[in-house]
Amino acid sequence: VALSRTSEVDIKGGWKVGAPVPYAALTKTFALIEATTKRLEKTSLLTSFFLLVVQRSAKGDTNSLLQVVYLCINKLSPDYVDVEMGIGESLLIKAISESTGRSLAVVKADLKKEGDLGLVAMNSKAGQKTLFKPKPLTVPSVFTNLKEIALSSGHSSQAKKVSVVTKLLAACQGGEAKYIVRSLEGKLRIGNAERTVLVALAHAAVLAEKEASGKKWTTEKLTNRLEEAANIMKSVYSELPTYDLVIPALLTLGINGLRSQCKLTPGVPLKPMLAKPTKAIGEVLDRFENKRFTCEYKYDGERAQVHKLDDGTVGVFSRNSEDMSKKYPDLVEQLPHCIRPHTKSFVLDAEAVAIDKTTGKLMPFQELSKRKRKDVKVADIQIRVCLFAFDLLYLNGESLLRRPMLERRELLQQHFQVIPGEFDFAKSSDGETTDEIQAFLEESVKDGCEGLMVKMLESDESHYEPSRRSVNWLKLKKDYLAGVGDSLDLVVVGGYYGKGKRTNVYGAFLLACFDADAEEYQTICKIGTGFSEEMLQTHWDTLRPLELAKPRGDIKVGGAKPDTWFEPKVVWEVLAADLSLSPIYTAAQGLVEERGISLRFPRFLRVRDDKSADDGTGPEQVRICCCHTMCY
Ligand code: ATP
Repeated sequence: VALSRTSEVDIKGGWKVGAPVPYAALTKTFALIEATTKRLEKTSLLTSFFLLVVQRSAKGDTNSLLQVVYLCINKLSPDYVDVEMGIGESLLIKAISESTGRSLAVVKADLKKEGDLGLVAMNSKAGQKTLFKPKPLTVPSVFTNLKEIALSSGHSSQAKKVSVVTKLLAACQGGEAKYIVRSLEGKLRIGNAERTVLVALAHAAVLAEKEASGKKWTTEKLTNRLEEAANIMKSVYSELPTYDLVIPALLTLGINGLRSQCKLTPGVPLKPMLAKPTKAIGEVLDRFENKRFTCEYKYDGERAQVHKLDDGTVGVFSRNSEDMSKKYPDLVEQLPHCIRPHTKSFVLDAEAVAIDKTTGKLMPFQELSKRKRKDVKVADIQIRVCLFAFDLLYLNGESLLRRPMLERRELLQQHFQVIPGEFDFAKSSDGETTDEIQAFLEESVKDGCEGLMVKMLESDESHYEPSRRSVNWLKLKKDYLAGVGDSLDLVVVGGYYGKGKRTNVYGAFLLACFDADAEEYQTICKIGTGFSEEMLQTHWDTLRPLELAKPRGDIKVGGAKPDTWFEPKVVWEVLAADLSLSPIYTAAQGLVEERGISLRFPRFLRVRDDKSADDGTGPEQVRICCCHTMCY
């Protein structure tokens, strides 16, 4: 247990069993988590806190832990529900000024000095004299208020938001204002990745189970149970990524009951399976030696997970589990035509690809990206989209995740039908020799695809693995074969103010890859090429609100010195001409040698708003790219 006795006493202060969780208990835990950069310590602190919440909740109360978890990841709902936390800086400044009686100018000046509106709010409150001690905030009241702010829209919503925030701030004590404001800004800055939360939840459940058993456990038993529980939790959550269902099940059935209760469910998008890059056909053949595999066209569109529920509702979800049904009303409308009878509920894994209206030819992703992201009207649609289905994950009440790919593919073809220009199956070839794969690859490129996806067809290895980047799916892109490395998805962590014609925007940016094991961003290059003036303006508009005076604790800076830092949020796809070892940047340090890897002549390709910062390319992939370029 990571909490020291003093911290535990402090956190528990005034927190009665069965009473709502005091917000102060949560923010005191946040402060401890923020103070350490060590992942294991963060996990243990969170575990101890979750355990306290479980122990002090009334019997049958699942809401306390649920709300605490949401506040820890700074969300108010699952990803597929469109409730965005995050309100503008100017509204927050106004609320801080109103609730503390400091002038706008003073608050703004403080912000400039501190670079963290949360700290400004806390310091402003600290200097304020109050006659009456406000009623302590609780987790449910904060959660409800944050939800109210996030959901308020329309004419008078700004004034309403300021009024709710002002009231919340007036009730804050100690360090609470810091975290309320950070939550509202959409950047909690305690370095709490979702994976840490999942592991901590699992560990807390095991510790609660151990206490309930009243028996002594050996260290070995405890270690095994903790590891096993964390794996169960991660696997269950990748199939059913919603705490709304997972937490009540965890609290009522325990870790062992989770798997039977929490399964893939239409309407809740699961985390998609991902592929590993390969650099040559030879590598593919080595991997699949003596195994049955298939090659499919790798379409250049947007991943679309399509769900149909028994009641007829259709939902389209992005790679990141966002609901895209309003972006693709045409897909939703077209879908019923391609379903054969007796196909009631299902989950399809597919790619939505732009096609030419007249010729039916595939168009590159750039065409698709011209579509608005929300509220598209079928009548206004210029860019037509065809859905290419490549997997069937659920059918008529049954999960197919643990069926072999061959069987899933057969079921897919039996239950759906091709409608030219609207719905098709991913083109595939089960050819086995280098020549056959080479020919199919060339054909795919001629037809406007990015290359091939090569997939295991039979045995356990061909099961669908949610959220995994698996060796059972390999991607073979034309770019690798042309001698250019794969593009990388990098997180924008810093900015350099522009000079000359670019004075009012950022002229260059500092990028980083994301190490999921260490949960840190590692700097990789400065990029200033590939941007039009218009793009630079858009990037300014997006990144300016994410500015930070100091790099966030989970950024491994190395020798990079940008003019400003950003909250790691925005992901860009970038292509580099080459990679080199670098004394400045920290990417993949220790993987090739002590120095990090940096990109040479990086070029901006596009914004990846279907990816979040922790979907950024990892150091291992950077290393592979590095080996690719060195090989060619
Ligand atoms: P990743 O999704 O692997 O992180 P990415 O989004 O940058 O990376 P790629 O590396 O280009 O995409 O390749 C994987 C993506 O290819 C899938 O997410 C999916 O959108 C797309 N895709 C196209 N055709 C297929 C197919 N036949 N099977 C699986 N995925 C396909």
